[in-house]
This record gives sequence, structure tokens and C-alpha cells, in this order.
Amino acid sequence: MDIVIVGAGAAGLTTAILTRRASDCRTVLVDGARRPCAKILVSGGGRCNVSNARVTERDFHGGSRAAIRQVLKAWPVAETVRFFADIGVSLHEEERGKLFPDSNRARDVLDALLHEGARVGVERRDGWRVHALRREGAGFMLDTSQGSIAARMVVLAAGGQSLPKSGSDGSGWTLARSVGHTIVPPVPALVPLVLSSRHPLAHAALSGIAHDVELQVWLDGRLAERVCGPLLWTHFGISGPAALDVSRHWTRATAAQRQVAITLNCCPGEGFEQVDSWLTRSAGVRPKASISSVLAARVPAAIADALLNAVDVPPDRPAGQVSREQRRAVVHALSAWLLPIEGTRGYNYAEVTAGGVDLAEINPRTMESRLCPGLFFAGEVVDVDGRLGGFNFQWAWASAAVAARALAQATNHSSPAARMQ
Ligand SMILES: Cc1cc2nc3c(=O)[nH]c(=O)nc-3n(C[C@H](O)[C@H](O)[C@H](O)COP(=O)(O)OP(=O)(O)OC[C@H]3O[C@@H](n4cnc5c(N)ncnc54)[C@H](O)[C@@H]3O)c2cc1C
Repeated sequence: MDIVIVGAGAAGLTTAILTRRASDCRTVLVDGARRPCAKILVSGGGRCNVSNARVTERDFHGGSRAAIRQVLKAWPVAETVRFFADIGVSLHEEERGKLFPDSNRARDVLDALLHEGARVGVERRDGWRVHALRREGAGFMLDTSQGSIAARMVVLAAGGQSLPKSGSDGSGWTLARSVGHTIVPPVPALVPLVLSSRHPLAHAALSGIAHDVELQVWLDGRLAERVCGPLLWTHFGISGPAALDVSRHWTRATAAQRQVAITLNCCPGEGFEQVDSWLTRSAGVRPKASISSVLAARVPAAIADALLNAVDVPPDRPAGQVSREQRRAVVHALSAWLLPIEGTRGYNYAEVTAGGVDLAEINPRTMESRLCPGLFFAGEVVDVDGRLGGFNFQWAWASAAVAARALAQATNHSSPAARMQ
């Protein structure tokens, strides 16, 4: 084969399509799953949040931001919109810049990609799991569950480890490691967080309640990150955009054995002093109203009661009879409540993986390995993870496009050694 692409997810499929559009080389897309692309189908709650209207390198973590910027600039969001329009999927913008297919069906996104792959002559081998990758002469040999394949060039687009039943079980990193690459230790990201059930907040009773919050991540005692957005309380802990977006900081810091804490601010953008003067003013205006109903102006009533109970202030106490000390305890609970995080829901519930093939070992102009000429990477297999909102797919499309351009050029001319310059 000219090119073998390992992984027929968003990144592998797009690499194959764009490579075939730009060159005549024989391109084979190999996937261990019998029904690849499961993640596209389940993405965005079955609607597939294809991209985001505003994407910058600041929406990502992992490898160097300069390298991420280079890849994103080579295939901006406008290219994604055009690419999907070309294959019959028009997109529209929703809140926070999220781009969805007009049909609101992830199935249509997947069908369009599969149809385009077939139209341009991508060969597919579904149910072929790659077990080993090694250099052989100027090319590669891949051992698969269905036999060996020789290839001039290989693309690893095998994803991370999130939703392993989809086929992405982390084996792409084993293949990369076997040819000399470093793997930044992977952890689940965009994953719900589990809270201790023995905590006074009694979060299980809040299950189903959603509200806007600010979550603050403290690393070794210092404020490292703030995330604003909706939070969803669940029977096990917290989920929703704000919780998912901070999760990678917690998992990464915990894996590195750093001291990490996450505090909840129910009054986003306001600090202790502002919340304190608001509560003092409100209690002065409505001294006979219960403290619970005063707080309910800012947070859902059940959250107000849970916080009051957790700091031992009776919810029905008239606001005017709350002592200064109690008021300060309530304000502290409202603006900087330390969340008792015990863990995460793990890879089965994680939307992405943080960590993966070290981006420093990949040329961001081509997505070609700096260590192993002829080997390329695309998508989540690389140490790049985006925040919630279509950013992870944009990384998949953009890194695939960069790899495809380089592959098409490489099949037409230039030796691997020349490409390493
Ligand atoms: C529930 C859920 C919802 C999501 N929603 C969104 C969303 O709305 N918007 C967004 O931007 N992102 C979303 N994501 C993240 C997004 O789906 C991923 O970042 C993206 O699909 C990664 O694409 P990929 O092609 O790099 O990897 P994958 O989609 O993981 O594909 C990798 C493929 O490689 C194959 N493979 C792995 N190892 C081997 C091997 N050894 N041999 C052969 N084949 C192999 C796997 O079977 C798989 O098909 C969501 C993820 C999940 C789990």
C-alpha cells in the first residue's frame, strides 16, 4: 500500500478523504472495530457538535500552544464549514459558537464522510486491529488481526482511550511507542467528577439541578484556572460543561501527584466581598424573609438550602436575624465552596483523553513524526485535548488536513529524509 491509516474515526476518515482528493496513491483505512466512527454517532448527544465558530489555541491543552496554533491556522473553521458543505452537510451556529449540522443528526455527518470516502476511492478494512508496527526497508510493516500489510507511509489516527468500547483502547500509543515516540501519560478529560457521599453538602439530593457557576482550580495552593458555565448535579457528583471543562486539570494534577483543589463559586465573576455586600444589602431590604428565600435570588432554592444546612444555618431563619459570623459562613459557601472530589467516572464516561503522543516529536507543519520519517499522526492520539464545544473535532479535522496535504505531497515527490529538513 502507499498509505495505511490506522483508525477510521473523525481524524482517520478525513485524512483518507483529503489525501485521496489530492493524490492517486492507494490509501487504506484500517480499523479494529467492525463498525468504526462510533464516536461521531454519539457525539453532541447524537447531534454532533462538529466545530466552533471561534477556535484558537487557547481552547486546547497538552502540547505547545505555538504548535497547536500552527495546525489550527492551516485548516481554519471556515475550511471545516466549506468541507462539510461540499459533502452535503450544512452547519449552523448555536450558543457559545457551537456548530451543528442543520439536520441535527450525527448520523448525517457520518454518512456524508463515509459516502465521500467511497466516492474518492478510500479502501476500508473494518475489523482489522493493528497489533504491531515496525520499520521495514524504506517503509513499514503492520501486523493486524487479519494478516500483515506493508506500507510506504503510515498515519496513526487511533484516538485516545475515551469510550474504549468504540475501539479506541489506547493501542495507538503502544504502536507509537514501539517506533520510539514518547507518550505523555494519558488521563480521562471532559469527564464527570465523583464527590464524596459523606460530605455535609449531601449532593445526591441535588441530582438533576443545573445552574451557572464558576469553578476554580487550585494547584499547589495557587489559582491555576477558572471556568464559567452550567454545572449539573448528579447522584454521583457533578457533570455539565463547567465540571467537564475543569476535569482535565484535576485528573492531570492528581496523576502527577500535585496538590489540587476545586472550589465552587455560585456567583460567577464575584468574589467574597461582592457577595457579602449583596447579602448584607438584601438582608437589610427583606429582614423578615427567610435567609433561604434571599439566597434563592442567586441560586436554585435546593442549592441554597443545601449550602445553608452544610454550614449549620437554618434555612428558615429570618435574614435579619442571621449573625455576622453566620452570614460570612454563608457567603464563603456561596463563593468558594471546596468540592470534595474523590475521583472521576473514568474513560467509559470521558469524552476525550488528555495526554498521548508528545507533540514536540511531531512537525506541526506536516504532522509527520520527527523521529520516524514516513509516520504521520492525526486526531486525539496526539497530546492535544480541547475544551467542550466542538474543539476536539476541529482538532481532528485540522490535524487530518495538515497530514493529508503532507502525505499527498510526499507521495508525489521528496524522500523522507528531505521532508525532515
Ligand atoms: C460521548 C462523546 C461525545 C463527544 N462529543 C463531541 C462533540 O460533540 N464535539 C467534539 O468536538 N468532540 C466530541 N467528542 C470527542 C470526539 O468524538 C473525539 O475527540 C474525536 O472523535 C477523536 O477522533 P479520532 O479520529 O482522533 O479518534 P477516534 O474517534 O477515537 O477514532 C479512533 C479509531 O481508531 C481505531 N483504533 C484504535 N486502535 C486501533 C488499532 N490498534 N487498530 C485498528 N484500529 C484502531 C478505533 O476503533 C477508532 O475507530 C465526544 C466524545 C465522546 C466519547
